[in-house]
Amino acid sequence: MRVGIIGGGQLGRMLVQAGADLGIACTTLDPNADSPAARVGPAIVGAYDDADALASLAAEADVVTYEFENVPVAGVRALAERVPVHPGPASLEAGQDRLAEKHLFTEVGLPVPLYAEVEDLASLPEAIEAVGLPAVLKSRRLGYDGKGQVVIADAALAEDAWRRIGEVPALLEALVPFDQEVSILSVRGRDGEIRSWPLVENEHEEGILRRSFAPARGAEPPVQAAAEAHARAILERLDHVGVLAIELFRVGEELFGNEMAPRVHNSGHWTIEGAETSQFENHLRAICGLPLGETTVAGHAAMVNLIGGVPEAAEVLRLPGAHLHLYGKRPLPRRKVGHVTLRGDDPRSLWAKVLQVSELAADA
Ligand code: AMP
Repeated sequence: MRVGIIGGGQLGRMLVQAGADLGIACTTLDPNADSPAARVGPAIVGAYDDADALASLAAEADVVTYEFENVPVAGVRALAERVPVHPGPASLEAGQDRLAEKHLFTEVGLPVPLYAEVEDLASLPEAIEAVGLPAVLKSRRLGYDGKGQVVIADAALAEDAWRRIGEVPALLEALVPFDQEVSILSVRGRDGEIRSWPLVENEHEEGILRRSFAPARGAEPPVQAAAEAHARAILERLDHVGVLAIELFRVGEELFGNEMAPRVHNSGHWTIEGAETSQFENHLRAICGLPLGETTVAGHAAMVNLIGGVPEAAEVLRLPGAHLHLYGKRPLPRRKVGHVTLRGDDPRSLWAKVLQVSELAADA
């Protein structure tokens, strides 16, 4: 099997690495000749909307996938006429627009935070009236890692928030007083088989994922079952093939849908060492029509993102159970340059190690 991957970031790189073990030859497409994936496998250099570059990728692939959701849909639709693309354009389209996500979540019965559409500056006061303050103004498209979103605490600063998100169509969303942020990662095969990993607990700072734990502490079986049922409904509605990640707010036993990613996800990196089958391997198995692997876990796993700098490798590797992953990226502020996975049987001692790695990461 040959897989073409649109995007050559760390997610593409880890897909390429998982493919190597399965005898699946992956080629990536990225505008950056020195992308993280280009360092571990064949790569085509070109823009994501360059028809020639996409045609070159199709020529190298029996199936095409993508590692981020902001790929132009028109190009992917055209590509899908030459070669199977999984997940399909419907998943891509839904994952690009926060309003489309909210509609989808609502259709399958997954509650969402109270929100109002903000088409232009003139519609902002009405949205504030409907949602109340404090609230968060989010651009509908192209927002990630906290970009394109601003909290409005005071109506006098609403216009400033509108300018800061770039004066683009947006949503105003009520702030959810969540107990925990969690994500459910699921995978659906070409034959419709679905598997989900245990709920992951996620900690964000400044809108960027810092740490994940799995299984999420305090996520009781009914919460896991509810998350899996919502994921199943969304996967089936989109006829999605591959991994899907849904980010949720947990308030008591209730879940609210925040956003989804029709791809492998940062909150699933721990599955490389922490689960029977990693998200990367299962994504490839799914899109290639191979049997899915078990998503069970033994013990507990945690992941710490390395952001803006890389700690001394020996300091990390000294910790028992620590696994270091560096992406080969030049460190820049707020840029994810690697992660560390930790495993353990006891959540308390695992947590202590997470704090140690977090300190090393902060000092880097
Ligand atoms: P997002 O890009 O929508 O995932 O937002 C990034 C982070 O901002 C989330 O992971 C939360 O920590 C926080 N956040 C976003 N929306 C809300 C909300 N409605 N209520 C509370 N926190 C939020």
